Amino acid sequence: MKLNKKGLLIVISGPSGVGKGTVRKALFEMQGHDLVYSVSMTTRKPRVGEVDGKDYYFVSRDEFQNRIEEGKFLEYAEFVGNYYGTPLDKVQEQMSKGHEVVLEIEVEGALQVRQKVPDAVFIFIVPPTKRALYDRLKRRGTESEDVIRSRMEKADREFLLANRYDYIVVNDEVNNAADRIMAIIRAEHAKTARSIAGYLEMLESEDAKNE
Ligand code: 5GP
Repeated sequence: MKLNKKGLLIVISGPSGVGKGTVRKALFEMQGHDLVYSVSMTTRKPRVGEVDGKDYYFVSRDEFQNRIEEGKFLEYAEFVGNYYGTPLDKVQEQMSKGHEVVLEIEVEGALQVRQKVPDAVFIFIVPPTKRALYDRLKRRGTESEDVIRSRMEKADREFLLANRYDYIVVNDEVNNAADRIMAIIRAEHAKTARSIAGYLEMLESEDAKNE
């Protein structure tokens, strides 16, 4: 029984290379949820296998900048030379239908959402160890040793932002991390502040039926 009729906004964030994307994908593969992924817009070129409208909306820099000026993003950030942003209209549309909307975004964007939507749920994904993060960046094989080092330094600064989040989830194993996120979402629904109005409404309509 769902007492909270308004959809939740769930923000999954964390340092670069921590495996946010993989955890998010595992979360969506789980059964019995009502989660909708918010497809971001980016100026980065598509990688092999990426599909426009599914992985990202791929747009030019000009188009992205026009959209910034028109206020069409819930948040946006520049990350390693490319823009990334969350289209506002899609998030609003899904939430008004009562869906749970999941954003998977880097930390700067997450802090913007914190300002604009304080009752969203903020989850910070961390690696089990710093070494694990280093190994992961190295395994990707896409960056030079210098870039990996600068990403590790950036991650060190980003770890300090963890206290701005509601939950910390350790990505020791992808499916475990996804399970923990699902448990968080369920617990958030049961929070009195989110569910009391729906429960009282249900009691009233029960009384009305019995009159
Ligand atoms: P990638 O290029 O590897 O797909 O993504 C780079 C980073 O951008 C990742 O940390 C990813 O979570 C983040 N990202 C993806 N979409 C968005 C978005 O809409 N806004 C922000 N702020 N970051 C995003």
